[in-house]
Amino acid sequence: MNARLIDGKASAAALRARVTAEAARLKGAYKITPAVAVALVGDDPASALYVGSKEKAFKEAGFSTRDLRFSAALSESELIAQVEALNRDSSVHGILVQMPLPPQIDARRVIAAIHPAKDVDGLTPANAGRLLTGEFGLKRGLVACTPLGAMMLLKETLGAQLSGLDALVIGRSNLVGKPMAQLLLQESCTVTAAHSQTRDLARLSARADILVASVGRAELVRGNWIKPGATVIDVGTNRKQMADGKNKLVGDVAFDEAFSVAGAITPVPGGVGPMTIACLMRNTLIAAALQTGLPQPDI
Ligand code: NAP
Repeated sequence: MNARLIDGKASAAALRARVTAEAARLKGAYKITPAVAVALVGDDPASALYVGSKEKAFKEAGFSTRDLRFSAALSESELIAQVEALNRDSSVHGILVQMPLPPQIDARRVIAAIHPAKDVDGLTPANAGRLLTGEFGLKRGLVACTPLGAMMLLKETLGAQLSGLDALVIGRSNLVGKPMAQLLLQESCTVTAAHSQTRDLARLSARADILVASVGRAELVRGNWIKPGATVIDVGTNRKQMADGKNKLVGDVAFDEAFSVAGAITPVPGGVGPMTIACLMRNTLIAAALQTGLPQPDI
């Protein structure tokens, strides 16, 4: 039997609709418009495209955006000074610094300079720590957007059945793998965190009820690695050159092989990707509510 397709586009559209409705309520009841500042350093076309789609999504939800564009020669201290000015600016609720940054800038120092209450990417050491201690999680606080979106898809797919399941997370980035492992642990999964030095990924995959791949290697995870009936979340986005010379976007999982083995699987594109932007919007709304003394909206 083929796997159930996890429709990230539909889940993201539903989340965005909830965010838009809540933003309208904040505006109507309290005259608060969630506001986010988006900083882009340099002129990398892919980054400009990402920033453009985020700003479009913010505007569609009724948020206000402030564009900050800097030359690729900007220094680290200049960027940190800009971030600190935004930290002090009460008309800005969320700060987004588009990655990657030019080589002269240490991204870790820039992320650490963002005020945790305005950290809508959920990547500051303070907010990563709050996830680790359980203060933040699926239903509270500012959590990294991609793992948060992946976790929402898992909850929608498996509901209360997550507790006690074996979960394998392949990849240990601060952006995805580590926060994903923490979210699964909060749901009482038994979590294995795999990485480039892991021995025998196929053996670990074979016992995983949940497999999350965030590696950046096209079709690394083969269908015959996967436990029959497992739920597979594919975070990877890789360009693969096809026989006709055209490029196709593929995940870290060999989708066609996995589709006939897994119980449920996210496609690439149309799985985790749309949830990332929707969760960024959700985080911005939460940041706006918290900074204006309102309770965190339940969305
Ligand atoms: P990353 O920072 O490059 O981390 C990749 C991780 O994979 C590392 O932990 C690395 O291990 C591990 N790894 C590399 N080769 C491996 C192998 N052969 N076997 C097992 N593990 C291996 O990547 P990331 O930021 O997590 O992103 C991963 C992928 O997800 C990329 O394709 C990216 O484009 C995509 N992504 C998508 C979204 C979205 O919204 N859809 C968001 C973020 C990322 P080491 O730590 O040992 O080096």
